[in-house]
Amino acid sequence: MDGTSISRRRFIEFGRDAAAVTIVAAAAASPGFAQAGGGKPVARGRPMPDGVSLPSTPPRPKRPDSVGYAIVGLGDYALKQMMPRFARSARSHIAALVSGNPEKLRRVGDAYGVPADARYSYDQYDRIAADRRIDAVYIVLPSGLHADYAVRAFAAGKHVLCEKPMALNSADCERMIAAGRRANRRLMIAYRVHFEPHNIEAMALMRRRAAGTIRFVRTEQLSRTDPSSTPAENWRIDRSLAGGGPLEDYGIYGLQAALYLSGEMPESITAATFRPANDPRFTQVFASVASQLRFPSGAIAQLMTSYDSSGSNIAHVRGDTGALIMDPATGYEGHKMRLEGRERRSFSLGDPTAQFAGQLDNLSDAIRDGSTIRTPGEMGLRDVRLMEAIYAAAEAGRAVQLSPDGRMRR
Ligand code: NDP
Repeated sequence: MDGTSISRRRFIEFGRDAAAVTIVAAAAASPGFAQAGGGKPVARGRPMPDGVSLPSTPPRPKRPDSVGYAIVGLGDYALKQMMPRFARSARSHIAALVSGNPEKLRRVGDAYGVPADARYSYDQYDRIAADRRIDAVYIVLPSGLHADYAVRAFAAGKHVLCEKPMALNSADCERMIAAGRRANRRLMIAYRVHFEPHNIEAMALMRRRAAGTIRFVRTEQLSRTDPSSTPAENWRIDRSLAGGGPLEDYGIYGLQAALYLSGEMPESITAATFRPANDPRFTQVFASVASQLRFPSGAIAQLMTSYDSSGSNIAHVRGDTGALIMDPATGYEGHKMRLEGRERRSFSLGDPTAQFAGQLDNLSDAIRDGSTIRTPGEMGLRDVRLMEAIYAAAEAGRAVQLSPDGRMRR
């Protein structure tokens, strides 16, 4: 899986300071509390992340048919981004919590008005089957735990909203999809940018060829992990929980953008990975991954992602008559987007933070009305297959050919 054809200097040259995403080292495990995971010690409770602001008044469901979610994993993203956004969702509410940290369960449960008997430890997770207040689970655990917690949620008869990446390998993705089908329950991958106004407009612009025929897509999702991190304290650099690292965590946004902006699936991929020697952050995961995707139209996408570069979050499309420039492209807010060339304009398209509630409502509507999920499990599987192809191409040092569904041709 390793390769060394991309140098650190080259990645740092590509780095841009805009919209840096800080990879926060997970805090040390809190001692003395039971470990999580179906009998298998996979996770301890973590302390409350810094900078969490809890609601002073518990939010209430807005409609009688509101979908009740169990939040599984009270980490940074759940507590700071998604949970506060339930208040803006028309049809979704927080019904239960699952955490390895009893103190967090108490504090967060009190603040969000979650009854004491709807607060579960990981050891009690399967008991959600009997809890009729829970319609769906929202899995916000380290990525290597997504598959097992999703399969168990389906076995408990619940619908699943699963964070990205869907899982760390395509076999696990297929297992999740099969479990959802067996249980007749819905599965959504939490690709929030499909609900973000700038990205939605970008897809429409590219569909109507606002930059002409697309020749190139270039994406950068770059950040720098705390230099003192080790895999023992930061799951993001632990291969069993994070896979290859930056690609699954952050580069996945660039991969997604290349597909939804081009409107195509690649037919071949070349790639390179880089892991510096003697850096405790990169004993298990890659520091940087670069890949090149060739589409049937002849368009080419270049994707760069790193945990060891100054920050950047961009998506550029260049067509034969113009260009679309998104910088920053896929963050929580602060998006900037402009067209150059024949059509020249900047876009200001409303509040990007609408993406969080938009995502929740899409799944809740699907659960209640049977409507279409914009980002289903099949999309998550497609992306994991493409990431597998990127790693395979880097390892082989030559192009990997793909079927239209993203499977590698042997
Ligand atoms: P954090 O480390 O901040 O939180 C993860 C939580 O999972 C922990 O707080 C802990 O909760 C629980 N957990 C269970 N087992 C473990 C373990 N072995 N090691 C560490 N934590 C464990 O991660 P994030 O919130 O940043 O990321 C969680 C998921 O959300 C990931 O899949 C990530 O890819 C995704 N994500 C998505 C984003 C998006 O924009 N869509 C942005 C950021 C992350 P507790 O203490 O309650 O048990």
